[in-house]
Amino acid sequence: MSALSLTEYQPRLQPWPKDLNGLLPLNEAFVSVQGEGRFAGHPALFLRFNYCNLGCSWCDTRFTWDIDKFENGDLLSPQQITKLAVDFIKTQSKNASDMHVVLTGGEPMLHQDRLPELISNLRQAGFNFFEIETNGIILPNVPMLKSVDWWNCSPKLSNNDMPVKQNISVETLRILADTGKADFKFVVSSVQDIDEIIALYLPHIPRHLVMLMPEGFTRAKQIRQIPWVRAAAIRHGFRFSPRLHILKWGNERKR
Ligand code: SF4
Repeated sequence: MSALSLTEYQPRLQPWPKDLNGLLPLNEAFVSVQGEGRFAGHPALFLRFNYCNLGCSWCDTRFTWDIDKFENGDLLSPQQITKLAVDFIKTQSKNASDMHVVLTGGEPMLHQDRLPELISNLRQAGFNFFEIETNGIILPNVPMLKSVDWWNCSPKLSNNDMPVKQNISVETLRILADTGKADFKFVVSSVQDIDEIIALYLPHIPRHLVMLMPEGFTRAKQIRQIPWVRAAAIRHGFRFSPRLHILKWGNERKR
């Protein structure tokens, strides 16, 4: 279990603007390979957006939401981000059709009123597969459900030091599971985390869509945790996901 108690941990969330005049708060863009989940190893263009609605104690992208570490990034239109993506891919001599686009954050679903237009523009520019990384709290709208090719949902457990009721939206979990194009990846650090998945999440999502990932932002910690997490996945009929970027680069940015 986490060393922090709920009374000690209070995330300081940068408030997110409700109206950005159609613009999107892009924090960073980079090319790498998907590090986790069903598409681990696939080449990908990552588009990271600012702001989060949760504030996990162990979050490695605090620069997207923590008042004390917040980076403004750029406010860009879907057309500007599409041009940036196309130019970026060209300078790296890559083909858009070979890459997945991964929309990540923070919590990119905070911007779901503008993301379908971005996805549409990127499709016209040659990109053809769109993953989104979400904590599974915000209810997706119809245009998002039609636009996204794969939902990498990472619901949070109480090891993030947040109240359990803030971590779970049963309705959203059920809608994503029903799409038939979603996985549910859990970062686990203890047997209690497995018990929590079974008690709180299995009533709402099918067992075969659950993936376990070892907690930890160093290669050494990942390697220490892999054996028991892998064994737990086999024992409970879950899947195991590596975290390739951490095994290779630890907690480095843009990896
Ligand atoms: S939901 Fe994701 S981005 Fe938000 S605080 Fe938690 S780990 Fe960080």
